[in-house]
Amino acid sequence: MRAAVLASLVVVASVAVSSSAFGWQGTQTCYPSGTYLCDPGEQPIQVRWKYRCVGYEINELGSSDLPRTADGLIAPEVIETINQSFDTWNQVDCSDLSFVYIGTTEDNTTEYVDSRGCEGNRNVISFRDDAWPYASTSAFALTSVTFDPNSGLITDSDVELNTATHDFTIGDDDVVIDLKNTMTHEAGHFLGLDHSQVRVSTMFFSAAEGETRKRDLDDDDIEAVCTIYPTIEEDRVCSNPPECNAPTDEDRGVDNGCCAVVSSREDAPFPLILGLFLAIGYVVRRRASSQNCS
Ligand SMILES: [Zn+2]
Repeated sequence: MRAAVLASLVVVASVAVSSSAFGWQGTQTCYPSGTYLCDPGEQPIQVRWKYRCVGYEINELGSSDLPRTADGLIAPEVIETINQSFDTWNQVDCSDLSFVYIGTTEDNTTEYVDSRGCEGNRNVISFRDDAWPYASTSAFALTSVTFDPNSGLITDSDVELNTATHDFTIGDDDVVIDLKNTMTHEAGHFLGLDHSQVRVSTMFFSAAEGETRKRDLDDDDIEAVCTIYPTIEEDRVCSNPPECNAPTDEDRGVDNGCCAVVSSREDAPFPLILGLFLAIGYVVRRRASSQNCS
């Protein structure tokens, strides 16, 4: 019999996970509780992808704020902007993490779809034009990372861009909310990073209108990705789509093939008014569900 338990927790805080001289922080889970904040004696585990080749897809509709084709689909230059954001992380020499653009999709799912199996779940970048389905309408974007709390291995990452209440732009002219600036930051969450304390870093938690400095990585961001995904294989070549990148039951430390705990974590920066700056707020929303066989 299966029992499902749902719980929610809101934390307004930031927790230092890294112990480096840098300011970056990894998204963590605690073993064995699977919570975000560790109890005494618990082991923090870095949330990360199992394999270095990680695929993503982009919702085919894009946004009405941004260029579309004559058929009403996302324009190639918008796709290219998103791809450049992921490529910024791909180009770090001391890491062999490789994001792979698979293509566009009708899907805009933002959770791990276990019923589709490992091959069918998608990591999707979507635009929310009609309504922002979260309380924080001031957020530019939100990345949901679903992972196995026993192993820290990610099963799914999805990005939602808040085009319902913000004007996104691409390119260098008349920048409002720069898509590349935002997506490079969200790609950091996508790979398992939390917010950094370094103000000039891509993973700093806030951004102002017109900001573009997060398009390029700071040394702090590079230290982060190279610590979590140090180069194992020079000149790694990924297949497209990449191989299945989800934890197995062996990874999870279970032997009956049916017990798993999956957590989803969402966070976002909040801009303040007047274009002065910047948001100083950090909200972690966490949903945890467990399935037990007995
Ligand atoms: Zn963020």
